[in-house]
Amino acid sequence: MVVGDFPIETDTLVIGAGPGGYVAAIRAAQLGQKVTVVEKGTLGGVCLNVGCIPSKALIAAGHRYETAKHSEDMGIKADNVTVDFSKVQEFKQGVVKKLTGGVAGLLKGNKVDVVYGEAYFVDNETVKVMDEKNSQTYKFKNVIIASGSRPIEIPAFKYSKRVLDSTGALNLQEIPKKLVVIGAGYIGTELGTAYANFGTEVTFIEAGDDILAGFEKQMSSLVVRNLKKKGNVEIFTKAMAKGVEESDTGVKVTFEVNGEEKSVEADYLLVTVGRRPNTDELGLEQVGVEMTDRGIIKIDKQCRTSVSNIYAIGDIVEGPPLAHKASYEGKIAAEAIAGEKVEIDYLAIPAVVFSEPELASVGYTEKQAKDEGFDVTASKFPFAANGRALSLNESDGFLKLVTRKEDGLVIGAQIAGPSASDMISELGLAIEAGMTAEDIAMTIHAHPTLGEITMEAAEVAIGSPIHIVK
Ligand SMILES: Cc1cc2nc3c(=O)[nH]c(=O)nc-3n(C[C@H](O)[C@H](O)[C@H](O)COP(=O)(O)OP(=O)(O)OC[C@H]3O[C@@H](n4cnc5c(N)ncnc54)[C@H](O)[C@@H]3O)c2cc1C
Repeated sequence: MVVGDFPIETDTLVIGAGPGGYVAAIRAAQLGQKVTVVEKGTLGGVCLNVGCIPSKALIAAGHRYETAKHSEDMGIKADNVTVDFSKVQEFKQGVVKKLTGGVAGLLKGNKVDVVYGEAYFVDNETVKVMDEKNSQTYKFKNVIIASGSRPIEIPAFKYSKRVLDSTGALNLQEIPKKLVVIGAGYIGTELGTAYANFGTEVTFIEAGDDILAGFEKQMSSLVVRNLKKKGNVEIFTKAMAKGVEESDTGVKVTFEVNGEEKSVEADYLLVTVGRRPNTDELGLEQVGVEMTDRGIIKIDKQCRTSVSNIYAIGDIVEGPPLAHKASYEGKIAAEAIAGEKVEIDYLAIPAVVFSEPELASVGYTEKQAKDEGFDVTASKFPFAANGRALSLNESDGFLKLVTRKEDGLVIGAQIAGPSASDMISELGLAIEAGMTAEDIAMTIHAHPTLGEITMEAAEVAIGSPIHIVK
C-alpha cells in the first residue's frame, strides 16, 4: 500500500467497464474529455463476460443441436448428432474473448486510460483505486458510476458447487442430466432452455402465475407450449421453493405448489431470482448520493445524481437492467457532462428474450396504453401467414402493433416469433421517428422476409390487409 500517493487528475472518471461504463467512457473521450475508466474485473462487465454474450452463444449452440436432431419435417434425418460440450464452452469463451479484446482496442483507440482495481469514494472529487498491492488516488471533475449488479442470493439457497447463479450455470463443464431452475424470468428461462436443448431434464419452479412475467400471457404461453413439447421440461408456476439439500453429486430441492409439498432431485440447482445493484461497496456514504432502500441510485433525466458532478447509469439506476439501456444512459451521461442538451427518453427501450420462440416488446403494450388513457388499436398478424417463416419451418407466433386510434401513431409493438430480437428494432425506430401505421404499410419490405410481417400488421392497422382476410 502506498501511503500519501499523489493524485492523478482526470476530467471524467468512469467506475466500471460494462456496457454502461465503457460506452460512457468512449463517448466522453469523443467529446474531448480526458477519461479514466476503473475496472475491478474484466472489460465488458457482466454483459460481455458472464451475461448477454456467453448466454447467447450457449443458446445458439443448444438450438443448433436441437434443430440438427429434429428437422424431419424438412426431410432431414440425422441419426448420430453428438455434442462435445468442452468445444461448446471453447466456442462460447472464444466469442467473449473477441469482444472483450475489441473493447480494450476501442478504449485505447479513443485514448481512454484504463485502470484495473476497485474504486472507492473518498469525497465527491476523489476516489481511491485499490488492487491487491497498491492504492492510487484519482481526482476528477465528474464521475460516472456504472458498477452494475450481481445475482441476488437467498439465504435458503446459498451459492455453492451445486447451487449455481447464472455465471455458474454458464460455466458448467458438462451437460447436466437434470437441472432445477428457481425463477423463470428471462435469465432462468433462457439458460434452462439452452440446457433442455442439450438434453438436460429441466424443472422450472416459478413463484409467479406465469414464466416470463414481464411479457403478455399470449406471448409467454407460446414459450410454455414449446418447452412442454420438448418432453424433458417440467414447469411449476405459483410454486414456492422451500429448501435444498446438497450432496457431493447433486441436490434435492423441495417446493410447495397448490398446498402440496414436492421435491425434485437434480445434478444442479440454478437460482435466478433477480439481481441487486453494486452500490454497497463504493463508499457512497462519503458523498451522500441519494438512493432508494433497495440501493438503487436516484438520477434525473441526465443521469445526474443528487450530487451534481456524480452521474449513475445502468443496472444501478431505476429501469430494466438491460445492456442497451446501460449503454444508452452512458451516452446521455457523457453528453450531459459535455454540456449538451440531452435527456433520457425511455419510451422505445426494447426488451427481448431469446426463448423459443423469441419474444420482444418495445413501447407500450395494449394494456399499458389503455391504462395510460390512450385510445388504441392492437393489430395482429401471424407468422403462419408469412412465407419466409413457413419456409424456415418456424411459423409459431405473431406481431402486434399498438397504434393510437386518432392518428395511427405507432406507440408500441410486441413480437413473438423467429428473429423477434432483430425485428423489434424497426418498430423502435418507428416509435422514435413518430411514424404512423401508414408510414410502415407504405414502406416496401423485401419479399420473402420475416420483416414483411411488420408491414402486414401495419396494413391490418389501417384496415387494408392483403394476406389475411379482413
Ligand atoms: C446471464 C445473463 C444474461 C443477460 N442477457 C442479457 C441480454 O440478452 N440483453 C441485455 O440487454 N441484457 C442482458 N443481461 C443484463 C446485462 O448483462 C446487464 O444489464 C448489463 O451488463 C449492465 O451493464 P452495466 O454497465 O450497468 O454493468 P455491468 O455489466 O454489471 O458492469 C459493471 C462493471 O463494474 C465493475 N465494478 C463494480 N464495482 C466496481 C468498483 N468499485 N470499482 C471498479 N469496478 C467496479 C464490475 O467489475 C463490472 O465489470 C444479462 C445478464 C445476465 C446475468
